[in-house]
Amino acid sequence: MNLLDGKKCAESLVAEIARKVAGYTESGLRTPHMTIILVGEHAPSESYVKSKIATSGLAGFESTLLRFPETIRESELLAKIKEVNEDPTTDGLIVQLPLPKHINQQHVINAIAPEKDIDGFHPANFGRMTLGQKAFRPATAYGICKLLQFYEVPVKAKHCVVIGRSNIVGKPISIMLSNDFDIGNATVTLTHIETPRELLLDETRRADIVIVAVGIPGFVTADMVKDGVVLIDVGINRLESGKIVGDVDFENVAQKCSWITPVPGGVGRMTVAALMINTLMAYQNNFNLA
Ligand code: NAD
Repeated sequence: MNLLDGKKCAESLVAEIARKVAGYTESGLRTPHMTIILVGEHAPSESYVKSKIATSGLAGFESTLLRFPETIRESELLAKIKEVNEDPTTDGLIVQLPLPKHINQQHVINAIAPEKDIDGFHPANFGRMTLGQKAFRPATAYGICKLLQFYEVPVKAKHCVVIGRSNIVGKPISIMLSNDFDIGNATVTLTHIETPRELLLDETRRADIVIVAVGIPGFVTADMVKDGVVLIDVGINRLESGKIVGDVDFENVAQKCSWITPVPGGVGRMTVAALMINTLMAYQNNFNLA
């Protein structure tokens, strides 16, 4: 069993970005700049935002955190997004999810300027990505691709099963790995909560690559996968003890895997690294550098 070490891969990608940024700023260009909007006081969001800001510093970016109370009205939030959209000194904008229930998440995602949408959630980017055009790719899915590429894990022509169909993980990774992309060309089955258990097991037991994003600790067990499988665990679940675990029964499943991501230190780190890649791309687009 080999570990797909997201920390190591992310550090290498971020160092590469920092080298490019140093070159740009030495030539007289301004520093790339990422803005994050955080609404309310959701503990996991606080920790994700902290990690995004720390990593952006390592990448050589400037970052701004705009905090708003839980009670902010949707119209006020949309107005703030418009301000950032129109600010020429911000290259990338993240609105940290989830949002309070009284705010329509789709309205917010749709309000972000597609050229600043470094999360890759806007329909314009999602659509372009689906059609195989240049776009900001959804960060977690893109991070998974970068991790597979870093460790030279074969993807082309492999049978991949994705468990979970969320717009932010399961759906985009299933599209990206099946597309004719640099990291893609797999045969992909997308499964979800309505997939009959027997069908799910048929699929996962034949899969070369299993990607799980359901948010249930221990969901993937050793009897569900074949020997030599590549396992990508996207889940981030906090147990009552405070321990963070993924969606895989790691101890028992790891023994059967050729490659597996740890949690923490796997996909989570890669999501943040992919956001940095997207921010650099937004900046390069602004200055016609790409
Ligand atoms: P979600 O919570 O929006 O939805 C869960 C998905 O799981 C749904 O599509 C549902 O159909 C599927 N599902 C639930 N039970 C199932 C079952 N029995 N069989 C098959 N499918 C089932 O999904 P999400 O937002 O992608 O989050 C999933 C997990 O990934 C969570 O733990 C979340 O915290 C984590 N996550 C991690 C990162 C990261 O950077 N590592 C990023 C995003 C989400």
